[in-house]
Amino acid sequence: MSESSKEGTDNKPTTDAAATPAALRMRPVVAHDNQAWWDRINEGELTIQHCKDCGTLRHPPRPMCWKCQSLEWDLVAASGKGTVYSYVVVHRPPFPGYEYPLVVAVVELEEGTRIVSNLVGIDPKDVEVAMPVKVSIEDVDDALKLPLFRPAD
Ligand code: ZN
Repeated sequence: MSESSKEGTDNKPTTDAAATPAALRMRPVVAHDNQAWWDRINEGELTIQHCKDCGTLRHPPRPMCWKCQSLEWDLVAASGKGTVYSYVVVHRPPFPGYEYPLVVAVVELEEGTRIVSNLVGIDPKDVEVAMPVKVSIEDVDDALKLPLFRPAD
């Protein structure tokens, strides 16, 4: 038996289930092109990228307008109102950090752009295409706010 394996037998386990932090949701990839959009989410506001040359709205944020190729843009406030354009209910596999069943929806905002998010506050079997929803920017953990959607009143 080598010296290194003798040392190894005296080691206590390095992981303790009680000390293991809860799994977190996957983090969004935030970079130059979408930093401003995420900053506004962290301030509690859903915005839509707006071309300063032709006025086209687009989501997700990206550097160039698909319509006129302009690189000039800003963000405009969204009403937060929309409808379910499409959705799926995810049951498996249970990815750590998420609650299942998980409703993943494409929401068409009333301004015309679409956003992929989660629909919460509703039984998944009650979700329907075209149902009205509204944004709800929520803390999903201690360090992440996400624009989720809930049924509109
Ligand atoms: Zn444009």
